[in-house]
Amino acid sequence: MASLDEPLRTVVGGKAAARAEKAFGLRTTGDLLRHYPRRYVRRGDLTDLASLRDGEDVTVFAQVASVTSRRMRARRGRLLEVTVTDGSARLALTFFNKVEYWERQLSPGRHGMFAGRVSTFAGKRQLAHPEFKLLGADDAGKAAEYAAELIPVYPATRDLSSWDIEKCVRVVLDTLGEVDDPLPEAVRERHGLDGLATALLGIHRPADLAEADRARTRLKWDEALMLQAVLAQRRRAASALPATARPARAGGLLDAFDARLPFSLTGGQRDAGGIIAADLARAHPMHRLLQGEVGSGKTVIAVRAMLQVIDAGGQAALLAPTEVLAQQHYRSITDLLGPFGQAGRLGGADRATRVALLTGSQGAAARREALLDAASGAAGIVIGTHALLTEHVQFADLGMVVIDEQHRFGVEQRDALREKARGTRPHVLVMTATPIPRTVAMTVYGDLDTATLTELPAGRSPIATHVVPAAEKPRYLERAWERIREEVAAGRQAYVVCPRIGGEYAGAPGGATDGRVPADTDDPESFPGQDEEDEDAAGPRRPPLAVLDLAPALAEGPLAGLRLRVLHGRLPAEEKDAAMRAFADGLADVLVATTVVEVGVDVPNATAMVVMDADRFGVSQLHQLRGRVGRGTEPGLCLLVTETPGGTRARDRLDAVAGTLDGFRLARLDLEQRREGDVLGAAQAGRKRSLRLLTLLSDEALIGQAREEAAALVEADPELASCPALAAAIGSLLDEEQAEFLEKA
Ligand code: ADP
Ligand code: MG
Repeated sequence: MASLDEPLRTVVGGKAAARAEKAFGLRTTGDLLRHYPRRYVRRGDLTDLASLRDGEDVTVFAQVASVTSRRMRARRGRLLEVTVTDGSARLALTFFNKVEYWERQLSPGRHGMFAGRVSTFAGKRQLAHPEFKLLGADDAGKAAEYAAELIPVYPATRDLSSWDIEKCVRVVLDTLGEVDDPLPEAVRERHGLDGLATALLGIHRPADLAEADRARTRLKWDEALMLQAVLAQRRRAASALPATARPARAGGLLDAFDARLPFSLTGGQRDAGGIIAADLARAHPMHRLLQGEVGSGKTVIAVRAMLQVIDAGGQAALLAPTEVLAQQHYRSITDLLGPFGQAGRLGGADRATRVALLTGSQGAAARREALLDAASGAAGIVIGTHALLTEHVQFADLGMVVIDEQHRFGVEQRDALREKARGTRPHVLVMTATPIPRTVAMTVYGDLDTATLTELPAGRSPIATHVVPAAEKPRYLERAWERIREEVAAGRQAYVVCPRIGGEYAGAPGGATDGRVPADTDDPESFPGQDEEDEDAAGPRRPPLAVLDLAPALAEGPLAGLRLRVLHGRLPAEEKDAAMRAFADGLADVLVATTVVEVGVDVPNATAMVVMDADRFGVSQLHQLRGRVGRGTEPGLCLLVTETPGGTRARDRLDAVAGTLDGFRLARLDLEQRREGDVLGAAQAGRKRSLRLLTLLSDEALIGQAREEAAALVEADPELASCPALAAAIGSLLDEEQAEFLEKA
């Protein structure tokens, strides 16, 4: 009888165990049994040989078509070339020694499994000296039975073939005794799941595909429950830490602010605000994610929360992803607060605070004043970019951190800011306008509680989005520029967005030195759309359109006579601010910009946007971009200009953006097109290994159920003492994560 932590070598022997460890790091019987088949093949099924790629380690099922042997010219001895087929495509197998021996076995007509690394030699796809195993036909009586049997195909390497693994798995399964099940029985019963031993048998040796499916579902539960239990424990541990309670106080700045507010809050804003107010009143740190569609009014919620903290004697920091956005927050919050944000200044109210702005590139005097205000506590609100994290910014009493547009901030940065609070932890509010698919929220942000704003403030007009196929219909592009002129003639404003800044020369910061397109330097993310495959492009694509090229062309051409301003990340901070301010104040008609306008920029009078080379942007990014228009009462218009032909995947994506205003749907689409690892990010890398079967999108329901079960388990029994197998599995998961972390360090 073997348990799941038996060393492999004691069960399958030292040689096989050594190869399994070298190939996949499998050390115990449990490791081996969690090395699941990638798929199953019926005897007689043939692999599509045309789909093989050079360099892949493959296990193919094929039929021997012909066998020839010849004397080699360069070396002594003979060469055997066996051609196998799937019925249409062919693959060469070459053997260099023991030629007669192989020749006797590999007679034409035989079916077999062949494993090796694919290469191309003299224009022919081949496996050089493959491992193989012949199937079936030698025992005619058993043929029918064989045909029904499923053969598991395992991830394999050159040294460890799929059937080597299969053989080891058989040995282990045959000696396996009782196993400790990490899924508590009550959970299994509620969800109709098999026990662990049954599931392991079912996934490795299924009688049919239905059995394999059932086993997979059960084993996915292991992964989902483990992950969610870890997250539930983290949430619990974090909220058990001490923090200063910042309960609301009547008659303070918050009340004064509410009285000044030029609109009434939406129901959603009131609900989310209430949840956050209650979080802040607790003596444990808040860790909350506030999700809300573009334009749903998250800033007001954040400001109200910050004022509650100030009323309770603390300070708040607001972190924005770009300087443009930090400056905009500074302006709009200063406006909203009016005299209550001007403490000790001319026109300041008696009971007031100050708002300080700290950016990486501001002047020395302004910076010194902001730093002093933060350190003395005179500034109740300190707004900044990443600079807030990296520089020696001191706070008198940091009670709360608001992180705007979370997707630009890593977990490490979140932690760095938390460290800024001396003694107790600050409350943390994370805001994102990128709708996060539920499963991602549950996994990547699983350690945060969430609040979601679903409704937009009343009176918003919908945004109409159209794809402009510039190559097929040049007339449509002309019409697009006419539409911009019409908007401006009606007293409104417009954005023109390009994927690139332009003006690069070799060696310049952000310059294109290797023919690749640089990112906008104010944008910590890399170049938009770069992670997408160019599968639609025939040959090299032209560089994407650039702000610095397009702006003069528009000024002399289709937008002649309009007041144009340029905004991009390479501008000095003052110029960025000046451009943004001019546009916000209506002193410019058209802002030609990069994605620096993507997040948060708020100019209600801007009603139209033209996105050039729209196919170069991600789906969620386009949705963010178009959120910049239609923020006032006039309907918004967004034109996605592209030269990609209809019917391509790139065009389908643009049509999808044009076809819906539902950010969550688009976020799912985005996720479908990205690899899961990218979504989970570096901080989650350790989890990749433990997520073998689970996929974020297709297992949404299962992950949701597991999250509920895990929360209930941890609530009732924080250390999971009543589920020792689950606690142990979590322990080794965390060790693994730790080990990987140390390896990287
Ligand atoms: P986002 O959620 O995208 O960050 P903002 O907080 O920038 O949205 O709000 C968008 C605009 O809507 C701002 O001009 C803000 O003043 C306005 N706004 C916020 N809440 C309301 C409301 N309840 N009624 C009317 N306008 C509102
Ligand atoms: Mg915002």
